[in-house]
Amino acid sequence: MQQSKNIAIIGSGLVGSLLAIYLRKRGHNVTVFDRRQDVRKIEFSGRSINLAMSNRGWSALRKVEIEEEIRKIALPLDKRALHVNEKPLYFQKYGKEGEAIYSISRGVLNRKMIDLAEEAGAVFKFEEKVWDVELEEAKIYTGDTEKGEWQEYQYDIVFGADGAFSRVRHKMQRQSRFNYSQFFIDVGYKELTIPANEDGSHKLDSASFHIWPRGEFMLIAMPNLNGSFTCTLFLPFEGETSFEKIKTEEEAEKFFSTHFPDITADISNLTKDFFKNPTSAMVTMKCYPWTYSDKVALVGDSAHAVVPFYGQGMNAGFEDISVLDDLIEAHGDDWELIFKTYQKSRKPNADAIAELSYRNFIEMSSKTANPKFILRKKIENNFAEKHPEKWIPLYSRVTFSDKPYSEALAIGDEQRDIMDKVMNIDGIEEKWESAEIENMILEALNDFEKQQPKM
Ligand SMILES: Cc1cc2nc3c(=O)[nH]c(=O)nc-3n(C[C@H](O)[C@H](O)[C@H](O)COP(=O)(O)OP(=O)(O)OC[C@H]3O[C@@H](n4cnc5c(N)ncnc54)[C@H](O)[C@@H]3O)c2cc1C
Repeated sequence: MQQSKNIAIIGSGLVGSLLAIYLRKRGHNVTVFDRRQDVRKIEFSGRSINLAMSNRGWSALRKVEIEEEIRKIALPLDKRALHVNEKPLYFQKYGKEGEAIYSISRGVLNRKMIDLAEEAGAVFKFEEKVWDVELEEAKIYTGDTEKGEWQEYQYDIVFGADGAFSRVRHKMQRQSRFNYSQFFIDVGYKELTIPANEDGSHKLDSASFHIWPRGEFMLIAMPNLNGSFTCTLFLPFEGETSFEKIKTEEEAEKFFSTHFPDITADISNLTKDFFKNPTSAMVTMKCYPWTYSDKVALVGDSAHAVVPFYGQGMNAGFEDISVLDDLIEAHGDDWELIFKTYQKSRKPNADAIAELSYRNFIEMSSKTANPKFILRKKIENNFAEKHPEKWIPLYSRVTFSDKPYSEALAIGDEQRDIMDKVMNIDGIEEKWESAEIENMILEALNDFEKQQPKM
């Protein structure tokens, strides 16, 4: 058992509340600060933003025995449903039989996680914004305004779980040799809703992640437990087809009926919601180091924010907590060693999922509807089914495995090179299922193995 510490967590989001549960299980005194009102007291306006939970997220929940509780509020999606204009709906399985990602409402999940953290004994202080942190002393300062009076708190350890625009990280940034970068993509997003049918059933298949890929932009939809779907429109901020070009209700109506005719009628209050709901930006944020001595550590989005196209931001943040806990188990009271090992092991993986997430936007919006891409996926899946020990598709490595993201990226690049060669073969459309193609992939994999350094 570790020596009990007084620990502050800044941020009661998904990652902060999971960390609170883990640290309480290890016997620490935990106080969680959040600048927001308690989400459990906010009346949801019916709008629900959802997330996809996958293997890494579930594994982290399982370790503190809350997986089953959370599964009750999640819906399994075992395939993509591709809506391409003038073509029949096309389904693409995500993985093997039984493998699925899970759609879950962010608000419902956050409320539940805070309940569970409180039950575990964590204390929550809402509407208390942290303005400053003294890194050497693990002191935090909260208050109503930046220039007003501040309350000082002294802890043994402070965790920054305060999201992509973290105040804790902001303080760490002022140190010499602290690396930091942020990159906004020029695509924004807006959330819209497809309401349930009158009998409460879903208007689209509720076991699918729906995508309307349109090249430079796309619409996606994930089901909610109440029969509705949350749709997210990803669209460039500026340019020929962009948010800036949609200024009136008529323009919004025209945009949807031109590009998404099969769904326009179902998106509730389309034109009103379009202007009522915000258009938000997406950022990739990288920084290093993530920790300060044995006193301060960043977790989740405050350490590594990624664009959402692999559905891995929260999953990666949950994995941070699980890895941190393994290191606590291994190194006991040596928090400096725990923190050093934590940042060293997580940083390459955070960078890898940032890269994969960025690449996946291109794949989802412009490639999923392309016949060559569909054939490529068929060949890969066909080979993976025949040789499951030799070929795990990249999506499955990221989504249905616990192996490091950095490994998924490296092997994925190798698989991409092999598939590029396969797709260049003359007449591949006719012979994609042939022994010739199978043998070619096997040989390429053998060559790759031979090139690997022997340990
Ligand atoms: C459109 C979209 C879709 C996404 N889809 C997925 C998905 O499908 N799957 C997935 O795994 N991930 C997804 N993500 C990513 C996921 O939302 C984030 O990775 C995750 O929410 C990060 O959790 P967090 O607890 O680190 O930070 P946050 O959720 O940002 O929580 C930070 C908390 O800190 C509080 N806070 C901030 N500053 C202060 C301060 N100074 N003092 C006190 N409190 C403070 C905030 O109020 C907030 O409660 C998506 C993200 C977006 C934008």
